[in-house]
Formats: sequence, C-alpha cells, structure tokens
Amino acid sequence: MIPYGRHEITQTDVDAVIDVLQNQFLTQGAQVPAFEKTVADYCGVAHGVAVNSATSALHIACLALGLGKGDWLWTSPLTFVASANCGLYCGAEVDFVDIDIHSWNICPEKLEQKLIKAKAQGRLPKVVVPVHLRGEPCDMAAIAALAKRFGFKVIEDASHAIGGSYGGQKIGACQHSDITVFSFHPVKIVTTAEGGMAMTNDENLAKRMGIFRSHGITRDPNLMTHEGDGPWYYQQIELGYNYRLTDLQAALGISQMQRLDEIVAQRHVLADRYDEILADMPLTLPQRGKGAYCGLHLYPVRLQLDKIIPSHLKVFTRLRASGIGVNLHYIPVHTQPYYQAMGFKTGDFPAAESYYAEAITLPLFPTLTADEQSKVIAALKAAISV
Ligand SMILES: *Cc1c(COP(=O)(O)O)cnc(C)c1O
Repeated sequence: MIPYGRHEITQTDVDAVIDVLQNQFLTQGAQVPAFEKTVADYCGVAHGVAVNSATSALHIACLALGLGKGDWLWTSPLTFVASANCGLYCGAEVDFVDIDIHSWNICPEKLEQKLIKAKAQGRLPKVVVPVHLRGEPCDMAAIAALAKRFGFKVIEDASHAIGGSYGGQKIGACQHSDITVFSFHPVKIVTTAEGGMAMTNDENLAKRMGIFRSHGITRDPNLMTHEGDGPWYYQQIELGYNYRLTDLQAALGISQMQRLDEIVAQRHVLADRYDEILADMPLTLPQRGKGAYCGLHLYPVRLQLDKIIPSHLKVFTRLRASGIGVNLHYIPVHTQPYYQAMGFKTGDFPAAESYYAEAITLPLFPTLTADEQSKVIAALKAAISV
C-alpha cells in the first residue's frame, strides 16, 4: 500500500536520539530549549514553547489568551477535531465559519458576516483559529484586519504548514496572529513522533504557555506571591498540565528541522507533477495562492461528480483496493456526534460538507518515487472511469 503520508528518518536523526539516550537528561535537559530556538529562529519569531502535541499547544495557547467559560472560539469546520476541542477544554463554546470554495480555508467574507451578526447579539468570539489546510496559508491579512476591528485574538493552526510562508514571512512568524501552533506527528511535515510547538512574539504569552505546559508551576520570583522559602522553592500559580516534550523527541526535531526546506521543496516537485498530469481529468485540484508558499502537507483533489459515473465512495474504495492509501481530510467537525449533541446540524456549513462529499487525499511525501506517483495517477484514472 502506498500511504498518503510517510515520515522519513535518516541515520543522522537516529544518531541524534542515541546521543541523548547516552547523556544525562532524557527530559527537561538542553535539547528542548535548543529545539525551541531552532524552530523560532527558522520562523523569525521571538519564542517557541515545545509541547507533547499540537493538541496540547492549542490548549495552552487558549489558556494563555484567557479563554474560558462564557467565551467563544471559532474555527473552520474543515479541520481535525483538535482545532475546535481546545475551546471546549477551556470551558468555552465553539462555533464554526464555513470555508472559501476556492482555497478551502476559512472564508474571510463569511467570517465578517458572522462577526457583524455576533456583535449585534453580544457574543463575539474571544479567539478565532484559522487552519492552514494542506499547508496553504489562510488569508491572514484579512483575518488580522477583522481581529483588530472586532477585538478577537488569533491562533493559527499551522499543523500542516511548517516550512511555508505568507506575505514574505515564514508561517510561524506570527505576523498576523498572537500564536501559531505546529504539529510534529509523523504524518506531518517534520516529526518528533508526538510533539507540537506554540510560537509567539509576545513574551508574556510565552511565559504563560510555559507555565501551563508544566503543572502551572513557576520558579520565577517575579511571579510568586511571596519570597521563596529556599533554593528548592517553586509555586503553583495556575492549574497546568504535564504537556512536556522529552529531550529525545527534541533532538529528533532539531535533526529533522535541518531538512525542512528540502522536504517542502520535494513536496512541491511532486505536487507540480500531480497538477500537470491531473489537469485533464474531471477533478478540482488544490490551488496554491500567489504570494504564499504552501507547506503541502496534503494533496487533496475533489471529484467533479457530475462528470464521472462512479460515486465518491466507489472511487475511494477502488483506489484503496488497488493499493493506494488514499484518505479524506476532513470529516467536517460539526457533523461529529459529539458536536451534533451540542446542536450542530448537517447543512450548517454547506461548503465544507460539499468538500467532504467530493474530496480524496492522494499520497504525497518526499520519498514518494516518480514510479509510485505514476501508479497513483494510473489508479485514479481507472477508478474514475466506468
Ligand atoms: C494533526 C493536527 C492537529 C493535532 O496535532 P497533534 O500533534 O496530533 O496533536 C491539530 N490540527 C490539525 C489541523 C492537524 O492536522
């Protein structure tokens, strides 16, 4: 089976991890801060807070921004559930803004319309989470303008987008957001097995996220209620978690980051080839906007179902049967039973739902060979014909 995504571990990666295993600290050593600096420097941002997943990063980002009971978090329905769940973890309410039919990212016009309505009803969101689906940057300038006008905070869910850029700056630079979150799960662009990081230019937010990452504990005398009792002393000043990344993972991350540009460039080579060969088929291909550089975590295509005979399900199962590990990103979050129990209904976000009815994610990863890619294309051609 050719999977839709596959991580790559080199001997250099292995050596980096072994090195940590043979040293003093398996966790809470020097590798984690070094990894944070590596990613922050790459992105051109002041701070990185490494955690054990992007899900944890989203959670501490929300906590640091003060999201809580009575607040609203809005995101795209076309994302992994974690982009929305982080709001619920904080006791906030979650709502969605439908996608743009071209970029498949959160639609700034629909966001504006919904904000105008919400303002009239006195229920503006405190946090909006734009998701750079497949690594394609959202229209961040438009979202940032709305954030200023309506007074909400912005967390970029850049789980798909490390290595990409927007408006001349790397994703993660937080040019148009308060916090940007990355995932280092193995299917993503670079990996630490499990892992994530929250980037920010705001020192206070970075400090607060650092505290929430580790039990709500601080050793900073400036943050304590009184002078310490002695050198052992620390204080718990918030209800935090154990969301720490290990030094083994951080060492793997530092090593993987050295190849990030190469990995994304190779994804572009493969995506260009898909674009070229699939152009004549009854498919809607993923667009890459001008003035941005896509991280290309995913290569989803949409079937033009009015032009083909087999159903979406039929094409998908045929591809799987011919050894192509296609997938579907994503099931719109508001259609999940957990969200339906909160009152969301099928039909609430029609653009995301129609995407879901047509989309198939094709294999895309740097070690996909031209031969394998040709197999994928041939199988797709066969799957959509009678
Ligand atoms: C993978 C992913 C997450 C969660 O990442 P983890 O590191 O697995 O917690 C969040 N949002 C999006 C869009 C993702 O794709």
